[in-house]
Amino acid sequence: VASTAHDFDFFYFVQQWPGSYCDTRQSCCYPSTGKPASDFGIHGLWPNYNDGSYPANCDPDRPYDASEMSDLMGGMQANWPTLACPSGDGSSFWSHEWRKHGTCSESLLDQRSYFQAALDLKKQVDLLKVLQDAGIRPDGGFYSLRGIAGAVREAIGYTPGIQCNVDESGNRQLHQIYLCVDAWGKELIECPVFPRSKCSSRVEFPPF
Ligand code: 5GP
Ligand code: 5GP
Ligand code: 5GP
Repeated sequence: VASTAHDFDFFYFVQQWPGSYCDTRQSCCYPSTGKPASDFGIHGLWPNYNDGSYPANCDPDRPYDASEMSDLMGGMQANWPTLACPSGDGSSFWSHEWRKHGTCSESLLDQRSYFQAALDLKKQVDLLKVLQDAGIRPDGGFYSLRGIAGAVREAIGYTPGIQCNVDESGNRQLHQIYLCVDAWGKELIECPVFPRSKCSSRVEFPPF
């Protein structure tokens, strides 16, 4: 019997800094709906196992259905903007995330609840404010990785995972911040396992 309900242990709630997505040798493209705010954007809400592995593409029979999302569109465009090229309205990013990750938590969250949970989490944690309040600003300067992680831990009570990518000059820059969330997509938890960081001890925080 084919199984469609897949168990998992927790979610990674992953946000991306648009300045770092765009500041690489690959180009980025603003969404067709306009340049996103200078703020962290959602990348995804990813079911994960405590050992660091994760399920993916759990239910090919349940494709992304935009009609379940019509009243969430404003929030999706503002908080989960796509920066990949070519420019799009976001639906291919969201549909990719649903297919690859969302279908693996379907037993707990239907499509609408899945995206709503991510939007609610974004509202719970204002990462840019947390960093700025600690003097860490997207001004092209370099900041210590420990300082960044410490500011988030101080403000929200949990240690984040931090991932970097590399700008055109070869500098490591703050690209994604991971927080861990219980399997209902509601409460932040201490991360059982952290993603590979690819950062250096000081990292650039480019403007957007
Ligand atoms: P996805 O298909 O991850 O699996 O990736 C599709 C495209 O996104 C890839 O062609 C890759 O070049 C691009 N991509 C991945 N990471 C970044 C990034 O940090 N910045 C930019 N501009 N593109 C990226
Ligand atoms: P990358 O190889 O660029 O770090 O990640 C590519 C994609 O693989 C991510 O966008 C995400 O879809 C998936 N992925 C990478 N690492 C993890 C992880 O630790 N947990 C989960 N659930 N997905 C991941
Ligand atoms: P993941 O890395 O989550 O498996 O895949 C991300 C996919 O969504 C890639 O194929 C990438 O091309 C696409 N995508 C569209 N917009 C974005 C964006 O703004 N950021 C990232 N990381 N991927 C995006």
